[in-house]
Amino acid sequence: MDFGLTGEQRLLRDTLRDFVDDKIRPVAQEWEAAGRYPDEIAAGMAEMGLFGLTVPEEYGGMAADMVSLAIVFEEISRGWMGVAGIIGSHSLSCWMIARYGTDQQKAAYLPELAAGTRRTGIALTEPGAGSDLQGIQTVARRDGDDYVITGRKTWITNARHASPLPVLVKTDPAARPAHAGMSVLLVEAGTPGFEVVRDLPKLGYRGPETCELVLDEVRVPASALLGGAEGRGLQQVLAALETGRVNIAARAVGVAQEAYDQALRYAGQREAFGQKISGFQAVQLKLADMAIKLQSARLMTYWAAAKADAGQRNDLESGMAKVYASEVAQECAFTAMQVHGGYGYSREFTVERLYRDAPLMVIGEGTNDILRTVIARALTSGRGFTG
Ligand SMILES: Cc1cc2nc3c(=O)[nH]c(=O)nc-3n(C[C@H](O)[C@H](O)[C@H](O)COP(=O)(O)OP(=O)(O)OC[C@H]3O[C@@H](n4cnc5c(N)ncnc54)[C@H](O)[C@@H]3O)c2cc1C
Repeated sequence: MDFGLTGEQRLLRDTLRDFVDDKIRPVAQEWEAAGRYPDEIAAGMAEMGLFGLTVPEEYGGMAADMVSLAIVFEEISRGWMGVAGIIGSHSLSCWMIARYGTDQQKAAYLPELAAGTRRTGIALTEPGAGSDLQGIQTVARRDGDDYVITGRKTWITNARHASPLPVLVKTDPAARPAHAGMSVLLVEAGTPGFEVVRDLPKLGYRGPETCELVLDEVRVPASALLGGAEGRGLQQVLAALETGRVNIAARAVGVAQEAYDQALRYAGQREAFGQKISGFQAVQLKLADMAIKLQSARLMTYWAAAKADAGQRNDLESGMAKVYASEVAQECAFTAMQVHGGYGYSREFTVERLYRDAPLMVIGEGTNDILRTVIARALTSGRGFTG
């Protein structure tokens, strides 16, 4: 068993660390507080080819392995988790278009998506349905050579930058089971009737916009149907979400690592009762627990990613990694805040932002409770293993 990264992966990690130190850390605190969109950082990520992480090389992408993808999301999230969101749902949808798109869809979108001159996201959640995707109400009815979409989506990250935006719809609302009537349509920005109606105010995850959308009789050509066949939409997005979970787990590892680094640094500087607080056993135990859990979360994430790279099914592993790493991130962020005492509660210290960013990883791309049910199903059906 080899726990080491390849030379290429180490180089990628070092390059990312330099990028984060030069371009993200110096501005993260101020821009996050101001709600400023990090255009310059997005441009830097485009220059590095990061918008093409999941795009095949023949379309100009990096076709990165999943371990490399995890490295990218971990390192960026150490600097500012919100920035990782800009390439998060983008990468997921690029993967989905590359995997399921028609030749025409791939040729039309992937080269520009890889370059970052086009961006994307994913529109699944609705005001009345998130975990229960088969309960969505957005409908696309066939009208000659077009589909006409009506519905509402909410919590859609990157919505103001995305074109095309893959939208999960019901092409046959009467189908039973419901997923047999679900499809993904690629909707371009500016299509009449498609409107981003508001930006949702968020606890954290500032940087990328997260929005509510209205689709009012949006007419798209039949060629916008992902893969060219109806009834495959739920399966397409669920497969894409599997890769998304490695991304979320890696973001959580990045947040946990930064929380630990900040706590260790602060404990080595702050004095109380005539000594550095790192000399108190209570603080040492906190640091040790953070380090143990953080490293466990990282290994689980790389394990899930390595399974995907080996071409093996990894829904169980990526689900386990996402659940565990997100809860470790939340715990580490709070512990780091405690180590900082009152300063940890101040907007002037990084740990306050980490504390606000961490919970998203528990909620997004399948809540941890939903994923626990998925893991339990795999275990009780005999498909999963724990050894
Ligand atoms: C900042 C942010 C960004 C987001 N970005 C996107 C995006 O880009 N695209 C997108 O489509 N969505 C996005 N989402 C939405 C996100 O994926 C959903 O919020 C998430 O899937 C949960 O859905 P919900 O909010 O409708 O909660 P619900 O599904 O209503 O769940 C509410 C609670 O009930 C529990 N629950 C529900 N069903 C079950 C069950 N069967 N068993 C046990 N417990 C259950 C859940 O675990 C949760 O605790 C984003 C959300 C946030 C907060």
